[in-house]
Amino acid sequence: MATETGLFCFIADRLFQFPFIQQNDWLRALSDNAVHGIIGMWSWAIVIGLKKKNDFGEIILAGFLASVIDVDHFLLAGSLSLKDALNLPHRPFFHCSTLIPVVVLTLKFIMHLFRLKDSWCFLPWMLFISWTSHHVRDGIRHGLWICPFGKTSPLPYWLYVTITASLPHLCSFIMYLTGTREMMSIKHGIHIDV
Ligand SMILES: [Zn+2]
Repeated sequence: MATETGLFCFIADRLFQFPFIQQNDWLRALSDNAVHGIIGMWSWAIVIGLKKKNDFGEIILAGFLASVIDVDHFLLAGSLSLKDALNLPHRPFFHCSTLIPVVVLTLKFIMHLFRLKDSWCFLPWMLFISWTSHHVRDGIRHGLWICPFGKTSPLPYWLYVTITASLPHLCSFIMYLTGTREMMSIKHGIHIDV
C-alpha cells in the first residue's frame, strides 16, 4: 500500500501539468490545491478503509482539511486577488508546521473536556494527517516552516513521498495502540489491521 501511495503522489503531482493549466495563475493555484485535497482524501481512505457509503463523508472532510490551509494566503493578503495572495511578505500562518501539534493537542483536550471523544475521536488524527500531508508537499518547494525557529531547506521529493506514504500507516498503528482505532472500528465496521 505504501508503494501505491508513492505512485499515487507521483501521478497526482503530474495530473495538472498541462501547459494551459500551468500558464494560468488561477488554474495552477486551484489544481495545486486540488492535489492537496486528493492526497488528504487518499491518506484518510487508507486509515479507515472504504467499506460504507457514509465513509465518503469523512474522506471529503479529510480532503477539505488538506485544502483549506491555503485560504491563509488570502487572509494574509487581505484580498481575493491571487496576485496579492502569491506575493506575500512572509509565509502565511497556517503554513507554520508548529501549529499542527498545537492544534491537534488542543482539539484532543477540548474533545476530552466535552466528552466528544467517542464519536469524533478520529478528528485530531484526520487533522494531523491532512495538514501534515499539505505541509510536507509544500515543503518540496519551500521547506518546512517550524516557527518561531525558522525553516528547513526544501524537502527532497523522495522524502515527501516517503512521509506521505507512511503517515496513514504510522497513524493507524498509533491509533491502534491508543485505542482510537478500536473505537473507529466499531463505528466503521472495519477490521483492525495495521
Ligand atoms: Zn499550502
